[in-house]
Amino acid sequence: MVDTGSPHPDKTDIEAYILSEYIPAKPLSSNLEVSFTGEEQASSETCAQLRCGDFLKFPFARSDSHRPTPAAIKGSKVLVAADKATGTKRVVELVLESSFDYQPGDTIAVVPSNSPEVVDALLTRLNLKDKADAIFNLKLVLNCAKKNAKVPAHIPPTTTPREILTHCLALGSVPQKQFLSALAGFTSNDRERSFLAGLSSKQATDHYNSLILEQGLSFSDILDLCASCKPTLAFLAEHLPRLMPRPYSIANSPLDSGVQELRIIYSQLSHKPGVTTSMLEAKVQQADKQPAKVVIYPRLSNSFRYTEQDLSSNQILIAVGTGLAPFLGFLEHKEQVLKQQLHQDRGQSWLYVGAKTQEALLKRDQLLAWQQSTVLSRLRTCYSRGDVPCYVQTLLEEDADELVELLLKPETVLYVCADGAKISQSIANGLGVCLQKALHLNEEEALRRLKELKTQGKYREDVWL
Ligand SMILES: Cc1cc2nc3c(=O)[nH]c(=O)nc-3n(C[C@H](O)[C@H](O)[C@H](O)COP(=O)(O)OP(=O)(O)OC[C@H]3O[C@@H](n4cnc5c(N)ncnc54)[C@H](O)[C@@H]3O)c2cc1C
Repeated sequence: MVDTGSPHPDKTDIEAYILSEYIPAKPLSSNLEVSFTGEEQASSETCAQLRCGDFLKFPFARSDSHRPTPAAIKGSKVLVAADKATGTKRVVELVLESSFDYQPGDTIAVVPSNSPEVVDALLTRLNLKDKADAIFNLKLVLNCAKKNAKVPAHIPPTTTPREILTHCLALGSVPQKQFLSALAGFTSNDRERSFLAGLSSKQATDHYNSLILEQGLSFSDILDLCASCKPTLAFLAEHLPRLMPRPYSIANSPLDSGVQELRIIYSQLSHKPGVTTSMLEAKVQQADKQPAKVVIYPRLSNSFRYTEQDLSSNQILIAVGTGLAPFLGFLEHKEQVLKQQLHQDRGQSWLYVGAKTQEALLKRDQLLAWQQSTVLSRLRTCYSRGDVPCYVQTLLEEDADELVELLLKPETVLYVCADGAKISQSIANGLGVCLQKALHLNEEEALRRLKELKTQGKYREDVWL
């Protein structure tokens, strides 16, 4: 993920984006209605998506027997403190109870919820404060004209305004033009209405691209900018996307303790933190005072994992930032397996890792200890902030000959984990340069070779977008 430097909504001057002539996009239609039953439901932390039945699929869920379940937070630790001067993000390690088997490199999904403050503000805006916990059904309007209109699968059959705004709807989603045009219809202030309607038009494509696509202005930001915009709950339920689970890499070995638990490591933006990381932060604070749980499920495994069978093979591990998380699991597992099987053949593990500063390098002491022991055969670190900025691809290029020699051995696999597609691309370019240098290839041949390595499963990537 790349910090896009989203604008402060309150600093965006909507006047600058109002066009004098435009044709608004066709607005999305409203095909659903809310029917309150007259009963109330106590507000609950249980994820409402779990009440949607088997129709609602959870992406990449390992199997139906692994439905999302609340897992207790058993501990947490700040690994890196946020630092404005270097743009370093706060990084936290979370220990969660686990009820399923896993291997290092596997991922879990965390089912997020929107923050109570954001939900309360929206309930007030929609004039639903008094009905926040009133039960309603969502149904098609009588004589619905739209053929394929339906109640979304991620809304439970009976629910409350607070519940769907908290657990079901992505309030931070990026609005499409037709959605903006419909929002204009719910806006009473002339300037705000012109802003929204104009932004939805073909004539405002440049504005839409810069505000929405590049700066990432979300539905929540739009509401902050347009105080008089008051859409209906039925419209939001029909057209806001589902609040989706987010993947996190398991950062430990299942052998590291006798009890069933797992660790994840997350980083948090200082400005405009995301929905899941904000929720995790709130839960961590809560866990200090009372038991707190996070809804999780195991995701399908893929080849980005390290198991006992890999002990005799070689790994070249390349990580940037929090992307080190899965490799901490790989290396801890190797250490644990080595303890159990003293005489077994062991391969080499090389780790290349980049961070903003030395302080931002996750578990530096542990990495150094692994370097001292036989777990890591090579540890190369670099820092992108400071007097002499250095990036991971520079380290790779410095080691080109030895790196390529190890990589081309049949029992070697190279793994890359970076929190951003751009970083992964820079690393791929660096590896291309290594192949050019070591094998005397031209750029095109090196690219072809990299592709082959990927197809052969010798070059495995985990890209966090
Ligand atoms: C296979 C896989 C494994 C992953 N493993 C991890 C992991 O182990 N640890 C981890 O921290 N993340 C991991 N991620 C990313 C994670 O799933 C979330 O995308 C991330 O935590 C932000 O979620 P959010 O809901 O808080 O942000 P959202 O509400 O989805 O974010 C809104 C916007 O802010 C940006 N954003 C939010 N938080 C950050 C951040 N910390 N850094 C940069 N940009 C941000 C997002 O890119 C987005 O543009 C993984 C992703 C994948 C695909």
